[in-house]
Amino acid sequence: MRRAISVPLHEELSITISVGEDFKAIVWKAQYDMDFNTECLFCFSEKITGYRVEDEFGQAGKVAVCPHCEKVNAIYA
Ligand SMILES: [Zn+2]
Repeated sequence: MRRAISVPLHEELSITISVGEDFKAIVWKAQYDMDFNTECLFCFSEKITGYRVEDEFGQAGKVAVCPHCEKVNAIYA
């Protein structure tokens, strides 16, 4: 279920988290951002939750995670 995302090398600010990854709240220092009334791509949940995160390399970004299956549904800015 992992989608390959090609990231240009010069784009150093991109986080390395990708859609379909399991949510690692503690590793990513997740902080609640907002809720989305969007269906999960991976299960039947009708809501996903956005968090501000930092990946393992310290790059900050925002991810929308399903509270049910805990998979990353989207990366947003
Ligand atoms: Zn889900």
